[in-house]
Amino acid sequence: MSANVPADKKEAARQAAALRDKLNYHSHRYYVLDAPEIADAEFDALMRRLQAIEASYPELVAPDSPTQRVGGAPAEGFGRVAHPTPLFSLANALSFDELQAFDARVKSGLGTDKVEYVVELKIDGLAVNLVYEDGKLVRAATRGDGQYGEDVTANVRTIRAVPLVLHGDYPRSIEVRGEIYLPRREFERINKSREAAEEPLFANPRNAAAGSLRQLDSRVTAERALDIFVYGVGVREGAELATHAGTLAYLASLGFKTNPHYRVFATIEEVAAYCESWADKRADLAYDIDGLVIKVNSLADQAALGFTAKDPRWAIAFKFPAEQAVTVVEDIIVSVGRTGVLTPTAILKPVRLAGSTVSRATLHNEDSIRDKDVRIGDTVVVHKAGEIIPEVVAVLAERRTGAEREFALPAECPECGSAVVRQPGEAAHKCTNPFCPAILREGLFHFVSRDAMDIDGLGPAVITSLLAAGLVKDAADLYSLTKEQVLPLERIGEKSAQNLIEAIDKSRQAGLARLLFALGIRFVGVKAAGILARRFGDIDRIAAATAEELTAIEEIGPKIAGSVVTWFAVPANLALIDKFRRAGVKLTEERVETAGPRPFAGKTFVLTGTLTALTRSEATARIEALGGKVAGSVSKKTDYVVAGEEAGSKLDKARALNVAVLDEAAFGELLSSAPDVV
Ligand code: NAD
Repeated sequence: MSANVPADKKEAARQAAALRDKLNYHSHRYYVLDAPEIADAEFDALMRRLQAIEASYPELVAPDSPTQRVGGAPAEGFGRVAHPTPLFSLANALSFDELQAFDARVKSGLGTDKVEYVVELKIDGLAVNLVYEDGKLVRAATRGDGQYGEDVTANVRTIRAVPLVLHGDYPRSIEVRGEIYLPRREFERINKSREAAEEPLFANPRNAAAGSLRQLDSRVTAERALDIFVYGVGVREGAELATHAGTLAYLASLGFKTNPHYRVFATIEEVAAYCESWADKRADLAYDIDGLVIKVNSLADQAALGFTAKDPRWAIAFKFPAEQAVTVVEDIIVSVGRTGVLTPTAILKPVRLAGSTVSRATLHNEDSIRDKDVRIGDTVVVHKAGEIIPEVVAVLAERRTGAEREFALPAECPECGSAVVRQPGEAAHKCTNPFCPAILREGLFHFVSRDAMDIDGLGPAVITSLLAAGLVKDAADLYSLTKEQVLPLERIGEKSAQNLIEAIDKSRQAGLARLLFALGIRFVGVKAAGILARRFGDIDRIAAATAEELTAIEEIGPKIAGSVVTWFAVPANLALIDKFRRAGVKLTEERVETAGPRPFAGKTFVLTGTLTALTRSEATARIEALGGKVAGSVSKKTDYVVAGEEAGSKLDKARALNVAVLDEAAFGELLSSAPDVV
């Protein structure tokens, strides 16, 4: 019996039940809500404990135990689809010993001494199953519980790297498995704009990818640069494959993106060395990996080995050590953000963590400090996944010496000395001075940032100098700066002064959507700003809108509406808008729409022949949702004829009248590009 397993069966049963509850709770948060509360390593440790108990007391294994189940249930809101063949999870190896044990199991299962392995990167995203019929993408689904997934076809169509039509000599039908992921840069961009809109941040790129793919509105998915690597096939008709490496090459020939870093090895020692070599190298990748996957190369051997309840016996994931480290909190400092919120940050004794040196970690707010009981001098566990800001996850209280000091947020703002208050019902403490220099400075950082007015060359150092020199007192002042004024500033030469003035000038044309986001109105992120700008077209109309008019827009809730109305009710804010107007900053948006994006407005379609990817009524619904009309017969007024298989006289008429003809693939492309055509 392993060390941690209770000798008393009753106690073991009690612990197993408690572990199952915990694992089910965290699985739901992770798979369904995309909002985990604990680190993956902690989750895996709980899972391993339950596995150890169940291994010692097999009679305690229940079919619904998390050890026997793949993933989480499909979320409501999406169509539920049955996978043609089930999708599996992977067993884990955390050490070389565990890899060797896997190798031994495979060899004894096959009754041989020679096994070839393929080693691939384990992309940290979410699994997706793509079904192609006659070379066309007809269905994309998440893994869900392995048997049933969520139908995310419309969203997956927005991912450029997913071929809608296969290349080359494609099979009659094929099920392709891959991992949808979010490159790190894109993850940071999304989290930055969520932070600006005071929306909850995604914990890591994996959760952000899942949250982006599982959107009920494909336009949101289309705005995020999701990507994919494919790594396997399920059922197929008309494709003869013998090895996994051959499968990867075959998938590439069909037009899929496969990951270039896979290798074939003849021994488990070489496999282990290759895994080891990625422990550091992974920091250089543009995306996150959480380990490597080792698969038996021969597909016949894979079939002979088969599956356990949840994992293939022919594959294993080698997981990297947890992205956690232990260090000491040397100090706690407080900074003031652009909304006046005070944020405490732990200054750490520098420690190596997930490929970089970490010397600061966020403590979020006073409640979080109190909940974790973090004191200056404490030894703590810090966690960092991917590029996210490191976080203090726990205090090792047993290491206390008595010299630690408790911390409380100051009663006065560290920037301006004004009173700090905590609004009832909110976790944040705020500076009460609306003119606090920190608010202005941080607000300017936000104003010029990439998703806002995107002014090149106006970094934190230049802004700080402009403020110190008294040249800028609000964002509109940027537009009256002259080259002569900025030249005397430190580190600004002739050329950069010129470039800066030009970049500021260029931003006058950024448009209403960017300006609205740049203003930093609470809860108005990039998305809401875009919606408001396109719907109203002019800042004066937004300023005049009532909360009812705003909430009448589908995507605008009462929180955003209330915040917009409040902002435009402040005379100083209206004066700022006027100042922008006088400075020639564009306060309008051209791409005005009435309700939702209507890229097909005014266009008439005629459908003919047999469509395969969509039914007639689905195609009609999509066209109408995008503002187009579907007519029954072809005339000179027809803009497009969509011709499926065996199209007859309507196609002939379209050709005779010179009407544009789209085959189904081209129509699919048009639909999937629609979200961008707003
Ligand atoms: P897994 O992520 O460990 O492995 C299986 C998955 O790996 C596949 O479904 C596929 O999506 C992916 N994968 C990536 N590259 C692959 C490749 N080249 N070949 C094959 N598959 C590849 O297993 P899982 O069942 O998805 O989930 C377990 C993971 O989720 C663990 O890491 C666990 O810590 C985490 N989790 C965390 C929480 C939490 O609260 N923090 C909760 C539940 C699960």
